[in-house]
Formats: sequence, structure tokens, C-alpha cells
Amino acid sequence: MTTISLKCRCGEVQGSASNITPASGNRVVCCCSDCQAFASYLKADADTLDEFGGTEIFQVSQAQVSIERGHDKLHSLRLKPKGLLRWYSSCCNTPIGNTMSAGMPFVGVIHTFIDEANREDVLGPVKAVVQTQHAIGEPGYAKHSAKFPLGVTASIIGKMLVWKFRGKHKPSVFFAEDGRPVSKPTIVDDAIAE
Ligand SMILES: [Zn+2]
Ligand SMILES: [Zn+2]
Repeated sequence: MTTISLKCRCGEVQGSASNITPASGNRVVCCCSDCQAFASYLKADADTLDEFGGTEIFQVSQAQVSIERGHDKLHSLRLKPKGLLRWYSSCCNTPIGNTMSAGMPFVGVIHTFIDEANREDVLGPVKAVVQTQHAIGEPGYAKHSAKFPLGVTASIIGKMLVWKFRGKHKPSVFFAEDGRPVSKPTIVDDAIAE
């Protein structure tokens, strides 16, 4: 078990994720157009997306994530009114992670916020590359699939149930006690997100 450092590009927002092992989370690459739109909106494409437009994400429970400084820089947006809450640092537009609602215990931490030189060692190999139908060009990943492979989906659902059962959505750096996001999400107009 390791604790990994989390940091935005400029260092204003810093935190950590505890109890990390390759088995404790899911390291996936998502090529969906919303993840790409999020990076573009923040003008962070170059740092965030790989050559095929994929975003590397490590899914952990919200309780594993703590923010030690820069809470007030934790901002969120939704690309669509009911879309995922996508978190970023308002100081330097570093993509931080994706959450659903307060009751859903996971956060997909985006690699741009993970301050580890060798993610392969700490997080283990990428378990799945998903939504490759939205990839840029011919995705040249070693293995990939258009949907979440069954094994990974089962693993995510299994972990969510365990986290939920153990109350791992609390404490959360992203949601207040009443379940509201700590910062009011901006709804990005579809026209801008395109
Ligand atoms: Zn920053
Ligand atoms: Zn995505």
C-alpha cells in the first residue's frame, strides 16, 4: 500500500491518495468524446490526451483522496446538464478527476493530477482502453475495446458496492455533508464543448 501525491501543474492544489495498490483501483484509458472535450475546454489537451485522444484515469474511492491545500481552487463543470462532474484546478486548469454524485463513491483521478514519475509501478498496468470508437485516428493501443470489458465493469461495480457499503464516499473532498458539490459546477454550453 502506498500513498501517492496529487498536484496540479502549478502546485497550488496539493493532496494525496492513500492505500493505493494496483489492485485497489482501476487504471483505464478513456477515449470518449466528453473526456476529450473536457481537456480541450481547459486547453489542457497536450498534457492530458495521448496520441489517440485517450485520457488515463485511475479510479479510487472518494475517501482515499484528500486535498491538503488549495481547496478553494477545486472547481467543477458538467459538459451536459446531467453529465459527470468534471473537476479541475482553477489556478492552472489541470484536469483533476471525474465523479458522479455524492452518493457514488468513486472518483476517476486523471493522470495530470497524479504526481508520480512512474505510474506503471505504483498503479499497475492499464487494465482497459475504452470508448475507442471516439479515438483519434486508428487507435494503436495494445488491447482495447469499444465498451468496458466485462471483467473491468464487474470489478468497478464490485468495488463501488464495497466502497458504498463501507461508507467510502465519505469523507469526500468533492462534496459537502449535504451532498452538494463543494463548488457550484459550471454547465458548459454544448456549442463551446464541440
Ligand atoms: Zn494549479
Ligand atoms: Zn471518457
